[in-house]
Amino acid sequence: MSDQPIYFDNNSTTFPAPETVEAILPVIGEGWGNPSSTHSFGQKARHEIEKAREAVARMLNCTPAELVFNSGATEGNNTAIYSALEGLPERKHIITTRTEHASVLEVVRYLGDSGYRVTELSVDRLGHIDLDELRNEISGDTALVSLMWANNETGVISPISAAGDIAKQFGALFHVDAVQAAGKLNIDLTEHAAIDYLTISAHKFHGLKGTGALFVRKDAGYTPLLRGGHHESGRRAGTEAVLGIVALGAAARMVSARLGEYATHMQTMRDRLQHSLLNTLDDIVINGDQHDRLPNTVNVGFKYIDGEALLMMMDAENICVSAGSACKSGSMEPSHVLLAMNVPLSAIHGSVRFCTSRYTSAEEVDELVQKTAKIVKRLGEMSPFGHDHKPASHTHEAMQRHRDYFAQAK
Ligand code: PMP
Repeated sequence: MSDQPIYFDNNSTTFPAPETVEAILPVIGEGWGNPSSTHSFGQKARHEIEKAREAVARMLNCTPAELVFNSGATEGNNTAIYSALEGLPERKHIITTRTEHASVLEVVRYLGDSGYRVTELSVDRLGHIDLDELRNEISGDTALVSLMWANNETGVISPISAAGDIAKQFGALFHVDAVQAAGKLNIDLTEHAAIDYLTISAHKFHGLKGTGALFVRKDAGYTPLLRGGHHESGRRAGTEAVLGIVALGAAARMVSARLGEYATHMQTMRDRLQHSLLNTLDDIVINGDQHDRLPNTVNVGFKYIDGEALLMMMDAENICVSAGSACKSGSMEPSHVLLAMNVPLSAIHGSVRFCTSRYTSAEEVDELVQKTAKIVKRLGEMSPFGHDHKPASHTHEAMQRHRDYFAQAK
């Protein structure tokens, strides 16, 4: 096994870009003061943070004052949701979708158990919400509409402009989880006046893990999630993670300068991967819309293939990818995103997400396809599903639990 992984899991995390690492080295050496200290040594660190804030503001086309640095998008999403609800305290209804990340979905489900009414919009077979369903569900009681810009599992892009307009017609606050959009799509907040809150996370576009930013539009309500300090202009307690913030600033500068080039490269590599897989293997489907999709993502369903075995064999070849089924408490839980899209179980269980990055090379793609094809062919010969297309029973049970959940939620 070579030391270098064949890394196609870039929606999970990306490696720190050389420019990011270069930016933090002087901060480790000389800029390690506390940015809240009044002495000039501490103020050097403060200066670095404010430079990073300006860089992120340029990437998003907002003002620096509208950004709160935090520990990443899980914190950002939690903060946005609680801020919106405290901003409109008489309203008791939240709208989101079934395909959100857990840092939105599990929070609103928790709030649903605590007295809020929660609507989880359905998606169609391609992963799109129905704007008419949103129009039908929203009312003057809706405090928050929370919608991801692009889905982490399928790359499917949401109609955020239209959804934002609908939210505003009813005076609801609008939150967008833009974690997967940042560094891949142009985010211009002057073109999206309906967005009140937007979350990004540095490690998804070649910054460091554990740092992100929450955009809060000037007039939108804000409630700190963490209290007990006056950092971030009183909006988040806790000494700022200076290294992570400086890295985020450097990552944002790269995106501002070269997004078009990065997106074109990711897409060329993704398309090469998708076309070669389709040309090499039978019985594969692409999950999700192939047009309104991130440039770097393809979610492939290898029909009748055991996803767990597929991942294990790929791992043995040092290939890094994520699966449509995740191992939870000893059984394989199908992806809530693919389930919501009504992808057949035979395809969910053998689904794999491949994500390219600006650094992916054609040689890596070709090696990946060649190794994947070999593994899939081998597994196909010993498929536990056989070719009678029967799903494994543990997957069946997990699917039933999801169906029961949605039936109750209706
Ligand atoms: N939202 C989406 C769409 C994500 O993909 C992720 C990370 N997988 C998160 C939120 C959470 O981000 P973080 O790792 O910064 O907490």
